[in-house]
Amino acid sequence: MKTIQHWIDGRIAEGASGRYGVVTNPATGEQTGQVALANTAEVDRAVASAAEAFPSWSNSSLAQRTQVLFNYRELLNAHRDELASLITAEHGKVHSDALGEVARGLEIVELACGIPQLLKGETSTQVSNRVDVESIRQPLGVVAGITPFNFPAMVPLWMFPLAIACGNTFVLKPSEKDPSAALRLVELASEAGVPDGVVNLVHGDKEAVDRLLEHPDIAAVSFVGSTPIAEHVHRTASANGKRVQALGGAKNHMLVLPDANLDQAADAAVSAAYGSAGERCMAVSVVVAVDPIGDELVDKIAERARALRVGPGTDPASEMGPLITREHRDKVASYVPKAREQGAEVVVDGTELKVEGYENGFFIGVSLLDKVTPEMDAYQDEIFGPVLSVVRVPSYEEGLKLINSSRWGNGTAIFTRDGGAARRFKLEVQAGMVGVNVPIPVPVGYHSFGGWKDSLFGDHHIYGTDGIHFYTRGKVTTTRWPDPSDGGIDLGFPSNS
Ligand code: NAD
Repeated sequence: MKTIQHWIDGRIAEGASGRYGVVTNPATGEQTGQVALANTAEVDRAVASAAEAFPSWSNSSLAQRTQVLFNYRELLNAHRDELASLITAEHGKVHSDALGEVARGLEIVELACGIPQLLKGETSTQVSNRVDVESIRQPLGVVAGITPFNFPAMVPLWMFPLAIACGNTFVLKPSEKDPSAALRLVELASEAGVPDGVVNLVHGDKEAVDRLLEHPDIAAVSFVGSTPIAEHVHRTASANGKRVQALGGAKNHMLVLPDANLDQAADAAVSAAYGSAGERCMAVSVVVAVDPIGDELVDKIAERARALRVGPGTDPASEMGPLITREHRDKVASYVPKAREQGAEVVVDGTELKVEGYENGFFIGVSLLDKVTPEMDAYQDEIFGPVLSVVRVPSYEEGLKLINSSRWGNGTAIFTRDGGAARRFKLEVQAGMVGVNVPIPVPVGYHSFGGWKDSLFGDHHIYGTDGIHFYTRGKVTTTRWPDPSDGGIDLGFPSNS
């Protein structure tokens, strides 16, 4: 059984707290490792290392940073398969999906490789006589990143490559449930030439997180995880004077209009609802079917859902792997009988699925609930598993009203062939990311990612232009090179002429 340690000051740092978390292989249910859980003193060591590295790293040339990031890109590319295997072993998602996660993370490293272009300032000459104004953006200092279990490589890559490209140093606190991929990412960054102390990693739970949120030498916190913890992180870190972006949970709706191609809509719903066993913040968890297509759409989704192959992520034939823990599996399963009791129609019930040879794994089959109404628990909660609800509505307007009354606003999608309706939806829907005939509208690296309402606390989305702004602060310099004739005392407010 392996022990997964911290990474401080450019090397492995053995856990000193005496506390460890359990790491399991969700496909077999067996414990495969233990992860060191940092105490306050260990977090402080990581922050001290980052703080010490900041003056020289923030002063490094753009050419130097770019070189390191290009090296990093090459190394990640060469280690895609290894990283995907680490993800599958601890998260459970199928290997092809894990490879997809690494690829999306790589996009942000590629964005960071363009940092000289992204950090360009602005200059206005002669704003007044012999006066020029220049705006630049400078790094903040030490930034902390706290990440969820469901994208153990991609979400850390959303954060630290861009943060360090901007000249910050970093302390990462990945999920303690599947920590090995993040540790490998940080080791590879060091191999790529990131100097010691620029990226540190501490594993841990609430104790480590809360120390990061209050540490006086942390300037900013990027968080991705569930809504209650995002709220806690935002509140606590803000109260401690830090800049915060805290991305939370979701309940993403897919509105299907009667004119949509129903086969394509059903394909999209199944892929987006059950991919990664529904453990994606951009998973579609509610299909909103506009009358009269409900019956036909449900039939098409059910037919596809029943054909999905569930099995270990290491088997290339598996399309969906297990859930992250036994407790989570049982919680997800409980929504199906509850929905039945509350009046929903259970069209596909995957709760009894057993995978031969993997009886102790945290597997669950896919479930499809029809005629779900907004009061039901299955509709109210973020289930975060392969349970798809269908809500029927009489019109586009009713569908929009339903979506806009959700407490979350991460992603949403419309399926239609009507350009005018799609345009209306794009403008009227209250969500941060909208898909038109695209079920999982995760933006590319050069557009920012983030939700509205309870899906994001803070002012900045993650990566893209918002990421650059989040990891830097503005400075404006006003310069005059006076003529001999300039001068004289004037107590009036400076005016430009
Ligand atoms: P989580 O909130 O349980 O954990 C996220 C991080 O917070 C982990 O590093 C964890 O160690 C830490 N944490 C957990 N409990 C804490 C506490 N009480 N105090 C301080 N820190 C704590 O989330 P998760 O279960 O790992 O991930 C799934 C959730 O993340 C889902 O709700 C999903 O929607 C959300 N998510 C959102 C996005 C997004 O972009 N909006 C992306 C991925 C995941």
